[in-house]
Amino acid sequence: MFVKGQVYRRRNLHSTYGGNWQSGITPSSSNPLIFLFSGQSGEQYGYTDGWKDGVFLYAGEGQVGNQEFIRGNRAIRDHVDNRKDLHLFLDVGDAQVQYESAMVCIGHDYSQTRDRDGNLRRIIIFQLIPLDDSIDPSYEENSSESAIDATSASQLRDRASKTETGGTASVRDRQVTVYSRSKAVKDYIAVRANGHCEGCGVAAPFITVKGRPYIEPHHIHRLSDGGPDHPRWVVGLCPNCHRRAHYSSDANEYNNQLDAKVKALEDALGP
Ligand SMILES: [Zn+2]
Ligand SMILES: [Zn+2]
Repeated sequence: MFVKGQVYRRRNLHSTYGGNWQSGITPSSSNPLIFLFSGQSGEQYGYTDGWKDGVFLYAGEGQVGNQEFIRGNRAIRDHVDNRKDLHLFLDVGDAQVQYESAMVCIGHDYSQTRDRDGNLRRIIIFQLIPLDDSIDPSYEENSSESAIDATSASQLRDRASKTETGGTASVRDRQVTVYSRSKAVKDYIAVRANGHCEGCGVAAPFITVKGRPYIEPHHIHRLSDGGPDHPRWVVGLCPNCHRRAHYSSDANEYNNQLDAKVKALEDALGP
């Protein structure tokens, strides 16, 4: 939907998707997604958003007094439950923003800062990690083929379906949980696809150095459904179909078709 690194006029984003011009956190009025804009001048006194160890730390909204879980802050915290995707943009000035990534909120922390009147207050720092299902060269490297062979499809499916995160686990632990589930989902999708694209049905275009059919996992339109990664919302595609799902003029329609196919596949496999 959005292209990483591409610069967009904020005006155009809002004219297409709606949402509030003024806010750093703004749910679309027409689509199940939430825009996060980072780096707007003077938005958070005494705090700067940014990446730290693979986690993007994003300050909540509210310029005076303690920040509470209302409006945009609540929208971020509950985005998975509400099936809304988070899309992070960085302000590059001149009313333009650069697309960073689709993100998943894995938790939050608090920080004490002074507001513009000099009063101490508590702000919310959201912990976001990228949800990137684009071509991932590390996928093959990190996937152990023997681990897949040693495990049945139903075991892989169970492992891939576990969704709990959060609680009292550390940021690092939650990050690891999300990534290991993501890997479990990819492994399972590779088995479910059985060497063929789940979009067009054609055999994988080539065999990888590890001897596996090459299939790319794609998150169907609502990345956050059922958690950031779940077999129900991921489809195994050939590179052409994957590009079509992201870049074609009929992408929405096409993703709906993929959604129906995956639903049928998963329903056939039982609850
Ligand atoms: Zn295909
Ligand atoms: Zn994709």
